[in-house]
Amino acid sequence: MGVGQLLSGSGVVGARSSRPLRRSRCGLIIGPCLIELYLIAPRRIAVGNNEWQRRIDRAEEMASRYASAAEILRFYAAVARFQAELYREIEGSAWVGKAASGSNPFTLSLDRGVVGSLRQFLPVVGRSGPLKLQDAARELGARDEQSHLNLLSTFWEDDGNAAPSETNDFFARAYLQPYAVGIRARAKMRWNGPTAFVCPFCKRKPGLGVLRPLGEGGQRSLICSFCLGEWEFRRIVCPACGEEDPLKLPVYAAEELQHVRVEACDSCKSYIKTVDLTKSALGEPVVDEMASVALDLWAQSRGYAKLQVNLLQL
Ligand SMILES: [Zn+2]
Ligand SMILES: [Zn+2]
Repeated sequence: MGVGQLLSGSGVVGARSSRPLRRSRCGLIIGPCLIELYLIAPRRIAVGNNEWQRRIDRAEEMASRYASAAEILRFYAAVARFQAELYREIEGSAWVGKAASGSNPFTLSLDRGVVGSLRQFLPVVGRSGPLKLQDAARELGARDEQSHLNLLSTFWEDDGNAAPSETNDFFARAYLQPYAVGIRARAKMRWNGPTAFVCPFCKRKPGLGVLRPLGEGGQRSLICSFCLGEWEFRRIVCPACGEEDPLKLPVYAAEELQHVRVEACDSCKSYIKTVDLTKSALGEPVVDEMASVALDLWAQSRGYAKLQVNLLQL
């Protein structure tokens, strides 16, 4: 019995596909995967260092279990180890403190000191990244500090919406993420305002959703694709266009990773993946979202576009 049947009890629309090796936008190999998907009938229901370590542990553990995403997860673990170290170094820094103390903590321009450790990140990507990113790391290594500052500032000041190249987006997003997390944490930012379609802290798009146990069901939140901030979001609303008709918001899940679901919108043809922690208490949302790359391939083959690619450009 598929997860769709388990949840809905009827109305199963299945799709079964066996896909060959694929390459992501950054050249990561996505292994062969056999997935079965079911339409789940719409239901009318409603940081710190430990965080990095939990993600690293989860990525390594899942890499050993899910061959289709093993390369992706091992590379993510290497990136997250660098991020954890960088976070330790910068969380108490003067620049983070200055940014966090402003009235809008994410508007302070990057200063030259922020660029300092980018050179140490390049070998991490050079050792364990896909070929396309290895080449980009070598090319970046040959550039000077001002060029690095320009690359990072372009991403920082454009709110990530200016469609930079995939490799520039990867390096800037991955390297600056610990700064963004640090600023949000240090500023003790909380959100109790109205439904926010972009991150209420750094104004980037959500990268994924999460369902956390609440009473008999789950409370839906969105997680920022950059600062990893989390905010509550109504369960039956498209985070791209605001569609609220449950019949236009199909939800799909697969046998292999039953706690990760594709939440699609037939109005704007976008989708976001949500990690259901009511089904898997051990899940780490950011990691599990990456591990379920087979769902992305399936959703995109059905004509849906991802609201926001993840850190690895998937
Ligand atoms: Zn954010
Ligand atoms: Zn929509």
